[in-house]
Amino acid sequence: NIKKQLGNQNVRISGRAGRFYLESTEMDNPDAVAKIESTLSRVFGLVAYTKAYSVPKTMESIEKTVLFLAENILKENNYSTFKIETRRSDKGFPLSSYEISCRLGEIILEKYGPLKVNVKKPDFKISVEVRESAFIYGPETRGPGGLPAGIAGKSILLLSGGIDSPVAGYMMAKRGAYIEAVYFHTYPYTSDQSLDKVKELAERLSAYLPSIKLHIVPFTDIQLFIREHGRKEEVTLLSRGAMMKIADKLAAGTRANSLITGESLSQVASQTAESMRFTGSVTSLPVFRPLIGLDKEEIIQIAKKIDTFDTSILPYDDCCTIFAPDHPLVKPDFEKINESFSILELGELIEKAAGKIETVIYDHKDKNE
Ligand code: ATP
Ligand code: MG
Repeated sequence: NIKKQLGNQNVRISGRAGRFYLESTEMDNPDAVAKIESTLSRVFGLVAYTKAYSVPKTMESIEKTVLFLAENILKENNYSTFKIETRRSDKGFPLSSYEISCRLGEIILEKYGPLKVNVKKPDFKISVEVRESAFIYGPETRGPGGLPAGIAGKSILLLSGGIDSPVAGYMMAKRGAYIEAVYFHTYPYTSDQSLDKVKELAERLSAYLPSIKLHIVPFTDIQLFIREHGRKEEVTLLSRGAMMKIADKLAAGTRANSLITGESLSQVASQTAESMRFTGSVTSLPVFRPLIGLDKEEIIQIAKKIDTFDTSILPYDDCCTIFAPDHPLVKPDFEKINESFSILELGELIEKAAGKIETVIYDHKDKNE
């Protein structure tokens, strides 16, 4: 995932249990480093990362680097205590971990006088690892945590142009879901600008994933058919049902194990327990609704943090506002709505729409040039 998310950035990656080493020829170029760090801040599963110096395994070069690092840290911070932490997997190295730490502590104290050692709660820490070479690094930056995208299998995200669904996708990606998105496009009732907006959202979300496929489903025929033949107050729910059905088919075709929506309890009429009972019943897959217990304000906070908010609030129409009845059902009767849905016999229209899906891939390939 790191490699894929780095895209065209020229970085060599090697790894061993619980640790990756990234080598770049551009470590002296602050822009390149900032780009790498910004990517790492979006790779789920990473607990922490830091810029490290790899130097020959001699005390002379280790001391020189530790002093250089201490100087840089102290230049920017008003610290009064520190700690050296040494790990040594090369047991052939002449000094023990403890001896290395003592020696390095000494030379820092010599140079930065009033500074003191505090092993329990230091203001800053310098770490030294003696392995194939010596690695030296200062404070770590917290990674995004979570689990590597993909370890939970694949999920189909119903991605609309709104604020909620990109956040829902982000939250499930964080728990290890690899995501493919699906958008139901009701052209010309929803404009091509609405489609562009969804594409932009998919691309922004792809920053947190190795790649994202966006499947675009032509939904107009189904939406018009439902408007013509469905009961007015049931239109929104029936079209939600059709969307879930198509998403379910897509899941079968792409071996996804679940669906994701941006629903939040009681936010709108179609997001009540009764409504979700129906929309969830058209698929046998688990439907993940990670926003279910969040307030709009909390969702907006996350949308801002993950940089999808500005795109989400662009003012293009949403099919659901255009086709929405004035008085939608809030608590549909399960048997009744089910019957309305099956009477419509959408099977053929759904097959037809599913056969005309267009797919766009966002995979970081051209992004970083
Ligand atoms: P969002 O902010 O994600 O648009 P919303 O608050 O507008 O959500 P609804 O319009 O009720 O809520 O949609 C609920 C969920 O259904 C969305 O979060 C999304 O997962 C899915 N959905 C709705 N419309 C579409 C669409 N045109 N294409 C794909 N998914 C959709
Ligand atoms: Mg919406």
